Amino acid sequence: MKGKVIIAGAGPGAVDLITLRAKTALEQADVIIYAGSLVNPDILAFARSDSEKINSAGLSLDEVITVIQNAVKADKQVVRLHTGDPAMYGAISEQMNELDKLDIDYEVIPGVSSVFAAAAAVKAELTMPGITQTAILTRRAGRTPVPEAENISRLAANNASLALFLSVADMPGLVKDLIAAGRPAETPIAVVYRASWPNEKIVCGTLADISEKIQAAGIKRQAIILVGKAIARSGEKSLLYDSGFAHGYRGTAQELKFSGKTALYAITRQGALKAGEISGGLNNAEVFVPEGLTADHSDFKSFGSNKLGKLLRLNWHLYDAHLFVMAAGIVVRKIAPLLEGKTVDPAVVVCDELGNNCISLLSGHIGGANRLATTVAGITGGNAVITTATDTRKLIAFDELAARNNWQVCNPEMIKVFNARLLAGDSIDLLLPEDVFEKHYRDIRGLHQIVTIEKAEHPVVVLNCKKDTGLPCLRLTSTGYAVGIGCRLDISADKIEKAVRAALNTAGLKLQMVKCLASTDLKRYESGLLDFATEYSLLIRFYGKKMLNSVKTPHSSPRAEKEFGIRSVAEAAAMLAAGNDHLILEKQKLDGVTVAIAAIVPTGSNNE
Ligand code: SAH
Repeated sequence: MKGKVIIAGAGPGAVDLITLRAKTALEQADVIIYAGSLVNPDILAFARSDSEKINSAGLSLDEVITVIQNAVKADKQVVRLHTGDPAMYGAISEQMNELDKLDIDYEVIPGVSSVFAAAAAVKAELTMPGITQTAILTRRAGRTPVPEAENISRLAANNASLALFLSVADMPGLVKDLIAAGRPAETPIAVVYRASWPNEKIVCGTLADISEKIQAAGIKRQAIILVGKAIARSGEKSLLYDSGFAHGYRGTAQELKFSGKTALYAITRQGALKAGEISGGLNNAEVFVPEGLTADHSDFKSFGSNKLGKLLRLNWHLYDAHLFVMAAGIVVRKIAPLLEGKTVDPAVVVCDELGNNCISLLSGHIGGANRLATTVAGITGGNAVITTATDTRKLIAFDELAARNNWQVCNPEMIKVFNARLLAGDSIDLLLPEDVFEKHYRDIRGLHQIVTIEKAEHPVVVLNCKKDTGLPCLRLTSTGYAVGIGCRLDISADKIEKAVRAALNTAGLKLQMVKCLASTDLKRYESGLLDFATEYSLLIRFYGKKMLNSVKTPHSSPRAEKEFGIRSVAEAAAMLAAGNDHLILEKQKLDGVTVAIAAIVPTGSNNE
C-alpha cells in the first residue's frame, strides 16, 4: 500500500482558523512539510509528537519532492502545509506536476486565505452592493514579475475591490500605479499585517497618505493590502471612520487636493506620455499636444505647430490650471502676455519630461498651483518644487487658507501685508472659526484668536465680518454664489461652461465658490445645462414664469418676454436662488448663453 499526500491550507495564522479537515490530516500525518514562518507553531502542535516536521523554507522544489517520494515509498502519510489557502501563491502547481510525473496521488484541502482574514479584520465586504461586484486578487510586480497585461495600472482601472499579496514593500510604487489607473487620491486603502495573529496590525488611510503611515508603522512584509470604496463601508462601526482616519481621509487629504479642471500641454513624444500618465491621476483634465503626437492617444486634443501661444490665449480662463510638460523657459515666455493678477490668474505648473520636478510657477495659493504641483509629484513620484515663503516655512498663508476652504479674499491688496506679518511673527488677531485656528495657527508666534471684532488690538484677519475696526484688516468671506443661466435651445455643455467661466472671471470668482445654478423651468430638460451641472456636482434650481417675473431685475430680455412671457431669466433666477437681491454681476452674454451672478449672503455670528 502506498502512503498518501495531502496538500493543505493552514489558514492565515490563528490556530482556530484551520479547517477541521486539515486539522485531522495533521493529526494523522507522519511527515509534515510546512511553509516557514507564516505557519503558526501552535498549529503544528496538532500533529503527533513523533511526526517528522520539516520547514520547507530552506528546501528547493526537488528536495521537497524527494522528501515526499521517500515518505510515500515508506508508506507514510504526508501533509504539505501551506499558509492561507494553497491556491493563492502557494506554488503548488509545480509540486503537483512533479507528483503527477511520479504517479503519486494527492488531495488538496482548502484553507482560509489571508486575504479573507484581512477583510474580516477591517470588517469589509469586498463585493459591496452599489459599489462593486468584483474583487481582484493579485500582487504587484516586485522581484517576481507579473504579466504586463496584469500590471496594476491596467487591472485597477475600474471600481473593483483589490486585494494585494506580497506587495507592501513598495507602497509609493503601488500608490503611483493605482493613481495611474485612475483611482482618486481619496480612495480608501487598508493594510493588514499578520492578519489573525496576536501581533496583527491594521493601518487605514487613503492613497494620499498610506505610504507615510506604512513607513511610520514599519510594515515591510507579511501584509495584505485592500483597496477600494468598498473598504470604507459607511456607518458607525467602520474602522475607516475612526477618529484618526477621519482626520486623514476627510480632512487633510481632501483639503490638500487640487480639484479644479486642468489643461495639460506637451510638445514632445516623451512629454506626451508623461502628460497622459499625469492626466490619468487627476480628476478633471484634458491633454493638448501638437498634431503629430495624437496617434497613440486618441483622447488627446491637438493644436497646429507653433500654435501653443494661440491655444493658451483661448484656454486661459477656461481651465483652473495649466500644466506644462516642457522647459520652464518656454512656459514663462508663453504665459507672460496673459498675466493679470493673483486673484484671477489660473494656476500654472511646469514639469520636466520625466516628472522629476513639478514646479509651482504661478498662483500658488489662490489658484492652487502649490497643491497641484504636490498632487502631480505624487503621481509621477517626483519632487514638488514650491517656493512661496510661507510654505517653505510650513505656515498656512492666509490666501492659501481661503483657497482651501473656497473662501474669497475681499481685499486682496492686503494679502502681502498679512502674510509678511505671519512670516515675521508679528502680532495678528484672528476672527476665524475655532477649528481653523486650532488646526493651523494655535502654536504660531504672534497669532491670537479673538471672539468678537471689538476685542481686536492688532491687525486682524476676519471671516464674514464687515465691521470697520480702524485697524488694518484682511477680509475673507465664505459667501457662496448662485449663477443664473439663460440659453438657447440645444446649446452644448462646453459653451455653457465657457460662458459661466467667463462671467466668474469678470467677477473675480472661482467655480468652486458657486453653490448652485438657476434657470427657468423651460430648461428643465436642456441636456447641455444638465451635463454641465452634473460634471461639477452643482445643484440647479428651476423657476416658473410667475416666480421669475416677480423679481425686479436691472435688465429685461425682450426676446424671452416676447416668446415665453418671461422678463428676465439669468438675473431673476440668480437672485431667486440666492434668496436676495445681491446681484454682483449683471447679465453677460457669450455665444448664446446669458449669465448673471448673485451672492448668497452667509449666515454666521461674525456677519454684521
Ligand atoms: N496562500 C497564502 C498566501 C501566500 S503568499 C494565502 O492564501 O494567504 C504570502 C503572502 O501572503 C504574504 O506576503 C502576505 O502578503 C500574505 N499573507 C499571508 N499570511 C498573512 C497574514 N496572516 N496577514 C497578512 N498577510 C498575509
